[in-house]
Amino acid sequence: SSHLADRISLISVSSTARVSAEAEKLRRAGVDVVDFGVGEPDFPTPDNIKRAAIAALDQNFTRYTAMPGVQELRQAVVDRHKADYGTSYSVPECVVSVGGKHAIFNMTQALVGDGDEVIIPIPYWVTYYDVVNYAGGKPVLVETSEAEGFALTAAQVEKAITPKTRLMIVNSPCNPSGALVEQAEFEKIAHLAKKRGIWLMTDECYCRFLYDSDPYSVASVPGMKDTVIVAGSLSKTYAMTGWRIGFTLAPAEVCTAIIKLQSHSTSNPTSIAQKGAIEALNGPQDSVDVMLAEYRKRRDYVIGRLRAIPGITCAEPRGAFYAYPNISGALSPNGLRTPMEFAEKLLAEAHVAAVPGEAFGTEKHVRISYATSMENIQKGLDRLESFVKKYS
Ligand code: PLP
Repeated sequence: SSHLADRISLISVSSTARVSAEAEKLRRAGVDVVDFGVGEPDFPTPDNIKRAAIAALDQNFTRYTAMPGVQELRQAVVDRHKADYGTSYSVPECVVSVGGKHAIFNMTQALVGDGDEVIIPIPYWVTYYDVVNYAGGKPVLVETSEAEGFALTAAQVEKAITPKTRLMIVNSPCNPSGALVEQAEFEKIAHLAKKRGIWLMTDECYCRFLYDSDPYSVASVPGMKDTVIVAGSLSKTYAMTGWRIGFTLAPAEVCTAIIKLQSHSTSNPTSIAQKGAIEALNGPQDSVDVMLAEYRKRRDYVIGRLRAIPGITCAEPRGAFYAYPNISGALSPNGLRTPMEFAEKLLAEAHVAAVPGEAFGTEKHVRISYATSMENIQKGLDRLESFVKKYS
């Protein structure tokens, strides 16, 4: 029998991590791997942000801080959210955590109890599924339409609501599909949540990376502050993945619960990272647009190349930095039966890492992250194309 607590069996190792580990193994063996697996900006953290953290070290800002982050940082989060999206939060409605993932973990622990149902649209970022299970909740998966670019609709959500529904999670733009929920539809989803007394968590991790629409937060809809909870992250927006700074914007009562939980687990986010984060949020924002312009170029190239490969179709990513091609026309009974098998052989034979769609709840796709150099993208897509042709 296992010596571990039962609840640990409720979660599994993320497949994204598994793919990275496999790719790393090959790389250590000297193989030139093109990595489309990782969801992480290839840009360095902007200099002004690095300098703020270095100054924090020099000034010995290296002690415990307030549990939810220093006042100045919470204010900076609130101010930036207002400037970007027109919301009106106050400091007691903001908690800074150790990355967006931590914020999402905390909020599910604070809001979801035994047997509570949580609506999660497919394809989904796998962490939602696991943290809901870990909280004792039950993920209720909702299909979206690939023909509509995987964009979630209020009608799809409504059909999944039961008296046990406690929370719905929306991630727009979406990891892995790049799907965007249009403003009018998002508003409908929020009104539906409010009417039915359900929390709406909006994961805004990629909200600054939109290709054809204006910055938007559903938290800006009037009257929604008792329904909407924002999960935010500086990781992708400012190329700060390793710094571990994310946040929650929510009613003060929810924030108080999260702070209590955080006070017994991580305590404050790293002090010097907090100083970098203040600069990221209050300082010049042009580096974000520079990255966005580069991602747009890569997206256009990736989509063009993928769609030109026989057997592959691809919905248009409207934000974030992922493409989610449908490879069902390239699967075959002899050798490439599933996306999992496709991804395993693609890595082993063509040295390209991609995450199989099973990790996101679908059975016809792989996820390609284009947060890597144009040179890598070209090389990787050349290899992918020959790989598919070899098996056709
Ligand atoms: N939400 C989504 C959809 C993500 O893809 C990620 C990171 O991959 C996060 C949240 C959280 O990122 P972090 O914990 O680095 O802030």
